[in-house]
Amino acid sequence: MSSRNDASTPVAIQSVSRRFRRKQALDQVTLEIPRGVVFGLVGENGAGKTTLIKHILGLLRAESGSVRVFGMDPVKQPEEVLKRIGYLSENRDLPNWMRVGELILFTQAFFPDWDPAYAEELRNTFDLDPTTKVGTLSRGQRAQMGLLLALAHRPDLLLLDEPSSGLDAVVRRDILGAVIRTVADEGRTVLFSSHLLDEVEYVADHLAFLHEGKLAWNGLLTDIKSRYRSFTLHFPTPCDKPPRFDGALSWEGSGLEWTCLFEGDTETGRDAATKLGAAIMEETEPSLEEIFVARVTGKRNRRVLAGREG
Ligand code: ATP
Repeated sequence: MSSRNDASTPVAIQSVSRRFRRKQALDQVTLEIPRGVVFGLVGENGAGKTTLIKHILGLLRAESGSVRVFGMDPVKQPEEVLKRIGYLSENRDLPNWMRVGELILFTQAFFPDWDPAYAEELRNTFDLDPTTKVGTLSRGQRAQMGLLLALAHRPDLLLLDEPSSGLDAVVRRDILGAVIRTVADEGRTVLFSSHLLDEVEYVADHLAFLHEGKLAWNGLLTDIKSRYRSFTLHFPTPCDKPPRFDGALSWEGSGLEWTCLFEGDTETGRDAATKLGAAIMEETEPSLEEIFVARVTGKRNRRVLAGREG
């Protein structure tokens, strides 16, 4: 990849593999994260998201392939790389014995570019009392505290590992979404991992999907979504099973009416429906969640990434 060593490219990952005993956590992953984007990293539990983020941070060394962050090797140049990164870890490791205010001052000491006014603004937004012991914060408050610490030095690259975990819906949508967008609008870059596809759809503009350590998809969200369509078809005679239909990923329905999640060129899908003698009753853009579920399971309406069915 030509921009691999380019200092203006936040993240360039080339053919990175990583094995933990018998588990292939990452398998030949190649991806590039351009500047100023919100990049959503999605995948089931254990797909390799955290392992990938740890390579970007230099906490894990690539067993094969290479990782460059702003053109640098994060294992060889940790200081230069880490000062440009804000990181919210999945398990929110924070010193429980400190108070909120103390932890803010303590963290500030490590970052020359720390913005105290912004830290204070975030502390107020999150309604975090500076005298509260970190160990007594709720799960959601810990996530907010971690987010504040990751953001207040205005990093060029913000890495958020499951940032929504523990946050209620309002904070998730209104605050997290706004914070993430602001970072990107200022020309900085955000990589966040999530298994909440509605959230990814709402906030990300690029998307990478890890499946069992392999990069299954990578691209602009709009490009990915434009390849899918949901067709509700009315057939002249009842069908007791879904018809043969090239590009159909999943079907739902019975008798005369069936709904198909279709992958491919929309016009080709319409032609195929007409050839089957079906009338298209409805045509909609499926949600990211519907697309993923159909791709992973071949079924509709199952929340596989969230690890639950419904
Ligand atoms: P989750 O959403 O559950 O956090 P993830 O996509 O972040 O999942 P990873 O944490 O990267 O997944 O884990 C990928 C695989 O590698 C899993 O099977 C995990 O058990 C394994 N793994 C990760 N770290 C280690 C380790 N230090 N030692 C052994 N196995 C590990």
